[in-house]
Formats: sequence, structure tokens, C-alpha cells
Amino acid sequence: MSLLQVQSISKAFGGVQAVQNVSFTLRAGELLALIGPNGAGKSTTFNMVGGQLAPDSGSVLLEGQNIAGLPARAIWRKGVGRTFQIAQTFASLSVLENVQMALLSHDRRVFAWWPRASSHRREHALALLDQVGMAAQAGSPCSELAYGDVKRVEIAMALAHDPKLLLMDEPTAGMAPGERVALMQLARSLAKARQMGVLFTEHSMDVVFGQADRVAVLVRGQLLTEGTPQAIRDDARVQQAYLGTGLVLEQQS
Ligand code: ADP
Ligand code: MG
Repeated sequence: MSLLQVQSISKAFGGVQAVQNVSFTLRAGELLALIGPNGAGKSTTFNMVGGQLAPDSGSVLLEGQNIAGLPARAIWRKGVGRTFQIAQTFASLSVLENVQMALLSHDRRVFAWWPRASSHRREHALALLDQVGMAAQAGSPCSELAYGDVKRVEIAMALAHDPKLLLMDEPTAGMAPGERVALMQLARSLAKARQMGVLFTEHSMDVVFGQADRVAVLVRGQLLTEGTPQAIRDDARVQQAYLGTGLVLEQQS
């Protein structure tokens, strides 16, 4: 059984049909890149999987169970994680404390207990930081980290919930090209090691074609096609969809 089966989901905003009858599947351990020009419906699709938006129709099956329309928090409890930006208020906390806060929240401890975060599951938090290559900076305040390192901490915080499926909407936005590849290589190795599915959007075609196992292409709210990176790169319809958007389907060097 697929980890995730998205079946013919649709969403309209007023007169705008943002997503129309989109279907795709994702297996455990697999990285699926959802690509398409701006406004294609990628974020709307993400938000229907994560529960920030309820689909107008269609279903979203997580391990065979329909989660479409459930509150985001219920979907998160069922094992769908996403990377969130570290809140401003927590930027002054150390890297380790932020991951401990995420572990506290996973354990459903009440927020008021947070002063105990410094002792809570320290070893587990350090192990998660090690998995994202940030153990050496455990004691640094998040506010002092380089941008790419903040993203790694955000991934460690998402992993605190031990997700079966990780949603990453434009995780590398604002990063330099080399950092983008490194971040998604990390996501790839975590997906394989944990048998965690990863659904991500990305504008850098180097990252998409280098890291994704499969690619699904959205155009004007509809799924144009889906397949291996090689098949997608060679697809004339995909190249056509990107014409005039300023994005290019680059060959990998
Ligand atoms: P992408 O992430 O691929 O750039 P989006 O899913 O954000 O695309 O948007 C798809 C379409 O839906 C766009 O036309 C966008 O303007 C519209 N849209 C997205 N969210 C809303 C909203 N909350 N209200 C109205 N229109 C929206
Ligand atoms: Mg978007």
C-alpha cells in the first residue's frame, strides 16, 4: 500500500479553480517533487494534504485512511509533519532547546512546562541534531545561525514528531544554489534511513532532477504528468509548460 494516495482532490477560491482533480501517490522512503509554474496550485495541494485547507472534493489517504478535511493538528498527530520557520520568540533559545521544545510538544506536555525543556529528552534532541549535522552547534542561539543551518534545525524539529510523511513547501527558498542541493541531499538521506516519505516543492531544477525519486508536474491546477526525473526532463509538454515562465529545465552538469 502506498503511504499517501491523493485521489482527485480539488479546491476553488471564489472563481479560481486552484486545484482540479489532482491525483498522485507516494511510497514510504520516497521523495516526490511537486513542480510547476507559479500559481500552478502546489501550495494549495500541500495545504490539503497537511490539513490547512479542506478539499472541495476528493480524498487524501494516509496508509489507507482518509484524512481529507481533518484539522491540521489531527493530521500532524497521524504522522504528517512539515517544516515551519522557527518562531521569532524561540530564536533566542539554543538550537538544542528548540529541538527539546519540539519533543515536548510531541509528548503533548503542556506548554507551561517549558522551563523544563533544558532537561527534557536531551539525548534524543542531540541525536536528532546529529542526524541533520547540527550537533556541534547545539549550544548556539538559533538567532546566530547561518540561514542554511536554521533550515537544518527546522528539519530536526519536524523529525521530533517522527513523521511518516514530511511536507516541505519551498524548503530552499532564499538559499544559495550549493546550499539547496545540500539541504535536499540531507532530506533524501533522512527519507531513506527512516523510510519517511517526502513531498516537496522546489524551483531549482538541479535539486529536483538530482534528488527526487519521482516528479509530478502541476499546470494551472491540473496534473500534467508524473514520472522519473529523466522522463519529466525529456517530456516536451513539460518543457512547453515552462516556456515563458523564466524557469528552465536545466541539464545537470
Ligand atoms: P503555487 O504554490 O503553485 O504557486 P498556489 O497553490 O499558491 O500556487 O495558488 C494556486 C492558485 O490559487 C493561484 O491562482 C492563487 O492565486 C490562488 N490562491 C491560492 N491561495 C488562495 C487563497 N487563499 N485565496 C484566493 N486565491 C488563492
Ligand atoms: Mg506555492
